[in-house]
Amino acid sequence: METIFCNNPNDVKITVPSRVSRKENLKTTIVNVNGVEIGNSEVIIIGGPCAIESMEQLYETAWAVKASGAKILRGGAFKPRSSPYSFQGLGKEGLRLLRQIRRKSDLAVVTEVMDTRQVELVAEHADMLQIGSRNMQNYPLLKEVGLSGKPVLLKRGMMSTIEEFLHSAEYILNEGNDQVVLCERGIRTFETSTRNTLDLSAIPMLKHLSHLPVFVDPSHGTGLRWMVPMMAKAAVAAGADGLIMEVHYKPETALCDGDQSLDPDEFDILMNDLRIVAEAVGRKIL
Ligand code: PEP
Ligand code: MN
Repeated sequence: METIFCNNPNDVKITVPSRVSRKENLKTTIVNVNGVEIGNSEVIIIGGPCAIESMEQLYETAWAVKASGAKILRGGAFKPRSSPYSFQGLGKEGLRLLRQIRRKSDLAVVTEVMDTRQVELVAEHADMLQIGSRNMQNYPLLKEVGLSGKPVLLKRGMMSTIEEFLHSAEYILNEGNDQVVLCERGIRTFETSTRNTLDLSAIPMLKHLSHLPVFVDPSHGTGLRWMVPMMAKAAVAAGADGLIMEVHYKPETALCDGDQSLDPDEFDILMNDLRIVAEAVGRKIL
């Protein structure tokens, strides 16, 4: 069942499926990631490396992001790489490292699942499942993460409209799982100076159309380390419920996405700036 969202003459008339639709519901759905509540007044920050590379790398990075105030650790074990010859992630070994650091650091963890056959395994190791941009329209995978009952971080397809994005989320909710966070991560446009064009207007639009919390990924959204802080602050100012950012203890040695990864000092400075922005828009970062 679907509803056409057109209760205001100025609204763009797009189709919003019923389960994700905000309708008259003024409250944002709270997504609970092992006790971390996304969708409340607190802006939740996820930090960590693009890919899990080693115990040392994950350990050092996890402690750094935790000390600066991140509530959730990110790190890919199964990586969707454009080239089959690039580092593909540590796979099961990466999940094992993630689980260990989770226990030691007491941080909740999110990691990507790319394949229906791995949902069960990844769900055993993570508090939140990430569906990457390239898989936003992998419908069997969406159904499977829906069935897992785990919170899901659904990233916007790099060539997907808001309407398609919301329909993908609906697949997950249809399986009885409303623990979905929508993540804007940049779309492909004619612009080549940035890795993607970070669509910050998606934040108010998604929040207008849907009750699901909205995150922004300024790392993949720009591809440029120096630009990440500006876009992160802009995202919080525009109403994002949280941010996911790539942080690496030694970005220059990263096996994946080092150019867009903040080092621990840069991340710490940004967190302090974000606290000020959050407060200015009636939110907080603890
Ligand atoms: C990631 O977060 O590691 C990632 C691959 O992001 P995206 O799917 O948005 O490209
Ligand atoms: Mn990455």
